[in-house]
Amino acid sequence: MPGPRPRPELHSIAVHAASRSGGAPTAELTHLLAANENPYDPLPGVLDAAIAAARRFNRYPDIGCARLIAALAHRFDLPPTRFAAGAGSVGVIQSLIQAMAAPGDEVMYAWRSFEAYPVITKAICGATPVAVPLTDEGYHDLAAMAERVTARTRLIFLCTPNNPTGRTVGRDELAEFLDRVPEDVLVVLDEAYAEFVSDKDAADGTTVCREYPNVAVVRTFSKAFGLAGLRIGFAIAPEAVAAALRTMATYGVSQIGQEAAIASLAATDDVMKRVDQVIAERHRMEGALIEQGWPVSRSQANFLWLPLRERSAEFAGVCARAGIGVRVLGEDGVRVTVGARESNDLFLAAAANFRLEHGRQPFPA
Ligand SMILES: *Cc1c(COP(=O)(O)O)cnc(C)c1O
Repeated sequence: MPGPRPRPELHSIAVHAASRSGGAPTAELTHLLAANENPYDPLPGVLDAAIAAARRFNRYPDIGCARLIAALAHRFDLPPTRFAAGAGSVGVIQSLIQAMAAPGDEVMYAWRSFEAYPVITKAICGATPVAVPLTDEGYHDLAAMAERVTARTRLIFLCTPNNPTGRTVGRDELAEFLDRVPEDVLVVLDEAYAEFVSDKDAADGTTVCREYPNVAVVRTFSKAFGLAGLRIGFAIAPEAVAAALRTMATYGVSQIGQEAAIASLAATDDVMKRVDQVIAERHRMEGALIEQGWPVSRSQANFLWLPLRERSAEFAGVCARAGIGVRVLGEDGVRVTVGARESNDLFLAAAANFRLEHGRQPFPA
């Protein structure tokens, strides 16, 4: 007799989990450019707030994240009833899909995009994924996405800047798209990298969600704010959706996370100085890679995308031998995080070596 058996769809998650490599350095990989983490140590004031909260971890956290939500509501000048926090924005995204889509309902997103979308949609929630190819330049094809909306579409994710291509959705094209999407379909702007955007024509979800009753925005403290290990993200959503998300809360955000997030908001100026350094490094790396002959596309996030196709794993191997962890995404390409200067320099050297070994044309025609 076989024992209790988890749903077979869950097998795909193991694959996802095995292919990631963020977190702690290992003996082999000392430069972690695989998970789009912030390379800087915690800001002193934020660390102090987390340590103070740690002294009380025998107590449950505030399940409603009330002080954090009040701080966010103040920051974005929106009522607290429009906010919900969760265990990372992945936790928020999972709750959104669970709240909106039953088995058989459709959840649309571009592809390639954030790997959590298919996993949560299909494996965790049993809903039907509708993956619409990006344009050749790595942008969302909003016209094609609008065409694919059906009576079963409940949710559309727009990842901007898109992980892994680094491309943003433009303000005007988004307005045109939203005018075509039925009002009962929730459009979620996943803006995990919003703080790194320098393009003035990019859509800003925190503005758009004031103008359309069916738009939500999801943001995170994991990337620019550097709290990836504390697991805290939030949504600004239509009131009924935000209320549903708060109802689903399971003490998923620790008090340490909540206090660190509140302290981080108070330290936004210092956070943004670090973001500016990352953006400067992004420009430096893009320039160096273009000079080496790589067809690197201009990114608006804290990572770069190299569409290496079937050479992806081989290139990641070259990086690994230099102690650098990068992210291979199937046979589409390699995503590399803009990290600390020293790590970036090592990466650029590895990239130059790869080009030398493989001649001027490492790409399929
Ligand atoms: C990193 C990332 C997230 C955030 O993950 P957390 O769960 O908040 O750590 C969300 N969306 C995208 C597209 C990401 O790349």
